[in-house]
Amino acid sequence: MSDLARTRADFPILHQQVNGKPLVYLDNGATSQKPRRVIDALVHYYERDNSNVHRGLHALSMRATDAYEGARARIAKFIHAADPAEIIFTRGTTESINIVAHSWARAHLKAGDVILTTEMEHHSNLVPWQQVARAVGATVRYIPVLGADAEGGLDYAALDTLLTPEVKLLAFTHISNTLGTINDAARLCARARAIGATTVIDAAQSIGHARIDVQALGCDFLAFSGHKMCGPTGIGVLYGRRALLDQLAPDETGGGMVVSVTYEGATWKPSPERHEAGTPNIADAIALGAACDYLDEIGRDAIAAHDHHLAQIAMEKLSVVPGIRIIGPRGGQPRGGLVSFAFAEVHAHDVVTFADEDGLALRGGHHCNQPLMRKLGLTSTTRASFYLYNTAAEIDVLVASLRRIQKFFVG
Ligand code: PMP
Repeated sequence: MSDLARTRADFPILHQQVNGKPLVYLDNGATSQKPRRVIDALVHYYERDNSNVHRGLHALSMRATDAYEGARARIAKFIHAADPAEIIFTRGTTESINIVAHSWARAHLKAGDVILTTEMEHHSNLVPWQQVARAVGATVRYIPVLGADAEGGLDYAALDTLLTPEVKLLAFTHISNTLGTINDAARLCARARAIGATTVIDAAQSIGHARIDVQALGCDFLAFSGHKMCGPTGIGVLYGRRALLDQLAPDETGGGMVVSVTYEGATWKPSPERHEAGTPNIADAIALGAACDYLDEIGRDAIAAHDHHLAQIAMEKLSVVPGIRIIGPRGGQPRGGLVSFAFAEVHAHDVVTFADEDGLALRGGHHCNQPLMRKLGLTSTTRASFYLYNTAAEIDVLVASLRRIQKFFVG
């Protein structure tokens, strides 16, 4: 990041004190902050263009429709989708994955089929598959996370035995929200494709942090949330290959997605309308387009390098804090911009509460990864997650705070 001070100036929220200390926001894995550009896009829309989309012939409705569809095209470009109709606006990653589970999986899976996922999934990319498997009589199987002291990577060797002809769906996270592991998404999609399985990537943790090219990845579906990539809450995306989306039965039905309705039944429009029943989240979709512009102006390669750099510094400095265990990939293994750690004698909730006194925003808990926590022999971790506006000096604040906490609880 060439001009970090300028980037920080773009985020109004960062310039405040918390508990008498400058805010150090290291909870980006949960949600990112919003640059002025995104906030302005929301205000501009509500002050000038607010109207319902698609159904109006007056000026405001046409402006709102153009901006909403413009955002769809912008997001298609952001992930290199072939066609804006491959972008479905949703509430976020969770809803996007649930649409695939409800519409695609229930229609395509039958008793005896296998849904393959990994041991490191967020509950959002795990519970929907367990539910659909239960409903249709399919089985969920897991690609193991490598061992106890493990680098936290996936056991790719296990794919040879796990990728049986019964596997009809492979769903996996691109970057683990707890381990920081970056999974080899292109390799996983290629292996799944070779046996005719459909692929779903949970890109919640990668979307705002690295270049994403759905065509190069070769995935069928990809899900993400706007709020983790400098966009608003309440808006997200389900990307799906056009051929799949056009055949997919809608999960929700109602206004805006029908061609014709009689008292006997209805027929559906093609994608994207068929998957967006009712009035969509217009303002937040438009602001998500503004977030894409912002991130591309800074440059996603620069952001990825910055995140990686901060994670490496954090790993080095945290590793010498007494009593700490760092979780996830080490020794130069691919790692996203987050570091999870645990103290043997201090609960993560105490760590987060004490760190808050020092102005730090961290996250402690199971991070919606309960089965993974059990596998790692932990109940919780503390997570510091970095983004484009964080600095190396903030890591020093983190380390000093953790030393204070360790001293207070353990002596
Ligand atoms: N998957 C991963 C890897 C995540 O980190 C999160 C958010 N913590 C989600 C899914 C769910 O995202 P959302 O709550 O925005 O739907």
